[in-house]
Amino acid sequence: MQTFTLTFLGCGSGIYSELGNNNVLLESAAAHTNLLIDCGFITAPELEQTEYLAKIQNALVTHVHADHVGGFEYWGYLNRYVYHHRPNLYFHGDVFDELWHGTLRGGLQRSQNDEGNPEELSLSDYYEPHPLKTDETILIAGLPEIRLRQTLHVKKKPAISLFIGELIYYSSDTVELPPERGPTGRPLEAVFQDCQLFEGPSNVHISIFRLAREIPPQLKKITYLMHYGRGYDRFNPEEMGFAGFVKPGQLFEFRF
Ligand SMILES: [Zn+2]
Ligand SMILES: [Zn+2]
Repeated sequence: MQTFTLTFLGCGSGIYSELGNNNVLLESAAAHTNLLIDCGFITAPELEQTEYLAKIQNALVTHVHADHVGGFEYWGYLNRYVYHHRPNLYFHGDVFDELWHGTLRGGLQRSQNDEGNPEELSLSDYYEPHPLKTDETILIAGLPEIRLRQTLHVKKKPAISLFIGELIYYSSDTVELPPERGPTGRPLEAVFQDCQLFEGPSNVHISIFRLAREIPPQLKKITYLMHYGRGYDRFNPEEMGFAGFVKPGQLFEFRF
């Protein structure tokens, strides 16, 4: 039996900076390894200031919004010019176009070499890219297997949720309900679920009200709500049957 920790570096929605970016760090102290799930515009400088960013070996992108990828340009510069290190970067193949061409290329492609001549760089000059297919797994020694699951966030936009090992589900940003079982059919131990605190005519995040109505009670009890916004203090998720709101910096420990 091995253990790992899952730490929320932030838990705010994409337009609520006070609670940080909803990004998580998986770590195994015994195996000296880690995986950062998304790196938003607040997360990268925060990790750099604590000198932890240089120690991150693996990162994963769930989808392209600034609260999930806004830190990769800054981190990329540090990798190339300061750390001299290329962390593994995992992403679904469908996300590549928005990640590189739509976001990072503008800052990272055009550079100058030591002789002062122009040079064109690619994503692999900053990170070791690992494009993945749906249902493909990420295997990192010392951490549970991560399985990618396509999900609906914004129509026509590639986005993925994750199974972390057999028993943990991490929704990232989505309008979908969480599954009741893990990838091998076992009941889940914990669900980390995106939620918004209002219902609108066109939702890109699932609302706390719909989750409260449609999730079975036994699943609700193990569901931690994340990626929430302003006005959260008006809600009491435990009274609604949920495990609660994730807090910024909250750490969970799991066995696998
Ligand atoms: Zn987000
Ligand atoms: Zn998003």
